[in-house]
Amino acid sequence: MPRWGMVIDLDRCTACQACTIACRNENNIPFAGPDHASKGRAIFWNQVLPFKEEGEQGYSRIRFTPLPCMHCDRPSCIKVCPVRATYKSEEGIVFQIFARCIGCRLCMCACPYSRRFYNWSKGHWPEIMQSAFNPDVSLRPLGVVEKCTFCVHRWQKAREKARSEDRPIREGEYVTACVQTCPAKARYFGDLDDPESMVSKLARSRRAFRLLEELGTHPKVIYLGEGEWREDI
Ligand code: SF4
Ligand code: SF4
Repeated sequence: MPRWGMVIDLDRCTACQACTIACRNENNIPFAGPDHASKGRAIFWNQVLPFKEEGEQGYSRIRFTPLPCMHCDRPSCIKVCPVRATYKSEEGIVFQIFARCIGCRLCMCACPYSRRFYNWSKGHWPEIMQSAFNPDVSLRPLGVVEKCTFCVHRWQKAREKARSEDRPIREGEYVTACVQTCPAKARYFGDLDDPESMVSKLARSRRAFRLLEELGTHPKVIYLGEGEWREDI
């Protein structure tokens, strides 16, 4: 059974935001509009956020960090949902059942990474974009919480194909839209439990770390800090 995870190399990321745009198009993420955006109600399943790093002698620099849902192995969001509208699958993906969500937002309070977003309005899309909706992803109604699903519709397609050929999903057959799009090849996706997969090799590298590891959420999004790049790590 695979355990899907992502590796993001911060040394390679150029903060171009291509991953954010790819995620928005792939998952039919609505535009907030100026009123809601000014109140902090814009929805981003993937964000590239700046973090200030303090150095010696007053020296500091900004480090950009892409942030999808961490698909934690011990997710605090699931524990607090009163209607079981969110759960972790056998393959480690944290699902959100939009039709079951009652919009109480307890999961948003419980997520230490702020990776959940509340739908404050009926979705808005410029007219020109409405013909480009992804038919594999449902439009979410007003009043529910949504978040990154590791492009689960892509997993479903890859799984059906693999099942019809009576074999497991091959490496590279299921990747998320952000990973597929990243022009800097800063993002990797695959089975963390396969010792031969690229993500598991990178996750074992000396540069690997997880955000807020001390909380015990066991994120399956792993970051690579500064260091020398080697294809064989
Ligand atoms: Fe960084 Fe790649 Fe996202 Fe661009 S697409 S911001 S390089 S992770
Ligand atoms: Fe849940 Fe937040 Fe972890 Fe995603 S990052 S699985 S929303 S606790």
